[in-house]
Amino acid sequence: MIFARYNYVRTRKEVRMTAVLSLEQQKLATLCKIEGFETVDQLLEAAALDSVSPAICMTEGCDYTCEMEPDQDQGWCEVCASNTMKSALVIMGVI
Ligand SMILES: [Zn+2]
Repeated sequence: MIFARYNYVRTRKEVRMTAVLSLEQQKLATLCKIEGFETVDQLLEAAALDSVSPAICMTEGCDYTCEMEPDQDQGWCEVCASNTMKSALVIMGVI
């Protein structure tokens, strides 16, 4: 009885967490995965030490990535043919 209630609460919480995951967070997670980093912190550290930063297209459904200037917030996406690329540092709000 108690166990069943716990599961119910946990499931509700997980659903809520998924719902509040913003587009920025989703894009950062995708960028980490593509670039081979386990956490966003690792990605941030690598980007901060380099003269270029991993960048990802902010269009929903497009996961085009490339290296761009760390302060790039409207880079050219070859897939979307629009200025929708943002560097990881810009997405994280570091710059
Ligand atoms: Zn794109």
